[in-house]
Amino acid sequence: MDQIRYFVRGRTYPSGDPLLQDALARVYDSSERPRCMCVQGGVEMYVAKHAEFVIKRMPGTGHLHHVACHSFEPEGGVSGIGELMGEAIVEHAPEQVEIRTAFALARTAGRPLPRGEQADDPPSINAPRKRMSLRAVLHFLYDRAGGTRRCRAAGPSR
Ligand SMILES: [Zn+2]
Repeated sequence: MDQIRYFVRGRTYPSGDPLLQDALARVYDSSERPRCMCVQGGVEMYVAKHAEFVIKRMPGTGHLHHVACHSFEPEGGVSGIGELMGEAIVEHAPEQVEIRTAFALARTAGRPLPRGEQADDPPSINAPRKRMSLRAVLHFLYDRAGGTRRCRAAGPSR
């Protein structure tokens, strides 16, 4: 699938169409959603604004896209992300995601561990919450970046 097409307000635009930016500007901040037209009926997307308007896929809709579509991603269960959703990964909004990691994000100037103490002993034993491994976080970030990069709507840069 070479040509990605988006349906915005009754019109279909190729992803490189300069008019697409204007169309996205009109639906940005509204409840109207563009649709990726890789499959019949299309798949809902949302509009983010960076330097220009960017179409991104909605969380959890990667598997709805045609396998050849740039927005396609296997269902969560396949990549292992699925079981973390809602626990280690909390979607507050498409652009605001909270993740809980199983490792420290910040390095602390440390007192060395006394001999005999388990280095990998978590401070709180009774933590039933699932947490993300570094690998899972990387997968997740890759997944998100993919949604951005691949669905980037080309247009005049401002
Ligand atoms: Zn698609």
